[in-house]
Amino acid sequence: KIAVCWFRRDLRLHDQAALYYALKSGYRVLPLFIFDREILDKLSDPRDLRVTFIHREIRRLREELASLGSSIRVEYGAPVDVWKKLLHEYDIAEVYTNHDYEPAAVDRDDAVGKFLNANRKAFYTFKDQCIFEKKEVLSQSGTPYTVFTPYSRAWKATLTDFYTRSYPTETYFDAFFQTPPLPLISLEEMGFEDTPAFAFPERSWSSERIRHYAETRDFPGMEGTTRLSVHLRFGTISIRDLVRDALAYNATYLNELIWRDFYFQILHHFPHVGKGLSFRPEYDRIRWRNKEAEFEAWCDGRTGYPLVDAGMRELNATGYMHNRVRMVTASFLAKHLLVDWRWGEAYFAKKLLDYDLAANNGGWQWAAGSGCDAAPYFRVFNPALQAQKFDPHRRYIRKWVPEADAFGYPPPVVEHAFARERAIQTYQAALKA
Ligand code: FAD
Repeated sequence: KIAVCWFRRDLRLHDQAALYYALKSGYRVLPLFIFDREILDKLSDPRDLRVTFIHREIRRLREELASLGSSIRVEYGAPVDVWKKLLHEYDIAEVYTNHDYEPAAVDRDDAVGKFLNANRKAFYTFKDQCIFEKKEVLSQSGTPYTVFTPYSRAWKATLTDFYTRSYPTETYFDAFFQTPPLPLISLEEMGFEDTPAFAFPERSWSSERIRHYAETRDFPGMEGTTRLSVHLRFGTISIRDLVRDALAYNATYLNELIWRDFYFQILHHFPHVGKGLSFRPEYDRIRWRNKEAEFEAWCDGRTGYPLVDAGMRELNATGYMHNRVRMVTASFLAKHLLVDWRWGEAYFAKKLLDYDLAANNGGWQWAAGSGCDAAPYFRVFNPALQAQKFDPHRRYIRKWVPEADAFGYPPPVVEHAFARERAIQTYQAALKA
């Protein structure tokens, strides 16, 4: 009999909750990764860099496991079908995996859990990708927090060393199932193309960067943030390791990691936000203009607002956009252009390497004003002022929009003062109705 550890957004052997408990179970542990056909079929770009990223990281895991005399079973298909096949092939006693809070993942895990239990296999699941989940941080009255500041206060008050301690998986590495390397399906076999030259952000971080985070993080022209988001997204690094560094070096940085937990618990308690609805239902009455041509100009970085265009071009070229600029571009789409924020949310979902339903939806609803802890609707970012303040030497703009100061750069797609007034009136009309 063996135990299986099913990897999903936790692609590492170090400090991984489900893996730790599997290795301690007394059974030999076979790691498993499923390229989920139901997810991959929805991706329209055969060069989708997230698939490349996962594939590279699986290859790395496979090498690490080979040095331990083990390997990872990699499957391509619908999860329940894969499990049917595996139950025929191996004598499986128990299955271990980590929680995923996205509605589709919750449904998938319910279905797999039911299937395994019906076949008398235990299915154990664990918290791994955040410090606090679900109901671990609630208000005095036992309800979920919907405003960040009191949430973060309660988060910090609940924190003890226990929550940031690493799971010492390494102690139990001799419990891996021993096998020669198992086959690894290629990207091409799944209908994708490899992009071997693409350089993803590094998997390591310097404490120096975290130490100076508060002074540098708002300037997109500097390397002032950690660029770890894709690694946090796929769990190639441990949140506990990172939180310990944040606690040691920088309170502002810790706050950003708390935002991440905040949005996970919002999605858990208010799953409607992940199903296309505003957190505040009255915002679903807004009469969006939804002009296709303006949306396309925004997507391509042709709005005539250099900071907005720089952000969109950075996103299109690299799969990344600086946080300050995510806020400005999102606000611009929803408020200046009055395009339904869900269009922008979907565009980011397609392009961002670090795309995460909870954080992306949280960010978009914040910018559109419809979210749980949103900027008030009458506060409309001025993209030119934002550029002056946060890109004072135009380093970021010059990098992505070199023609911004030259003849031929398009005039603004809409004038700021006019757009601001129009947004406020449109929002007011919806909220009064
Ligand atoms: P750092 O500044 O170094 O922060 C460290 C880590 O903290 C990040 O890697 C991230 O995991 C987390 N974090 C930071 N800010 C936030 C936040 N506001 N919400 C949640 N987590 C945060 N982040 C995503 O990970 N995925 C998304 O799909 C996503 N979409 C966004 C959409 C919009 C409209 C906005 C305004 C923000 C979005 N963010 C998203 C949050 C934030 O912009 C990115 O996490 C950050 O820019 C990633 O860069 P970094 O790793 O250098 O971050």
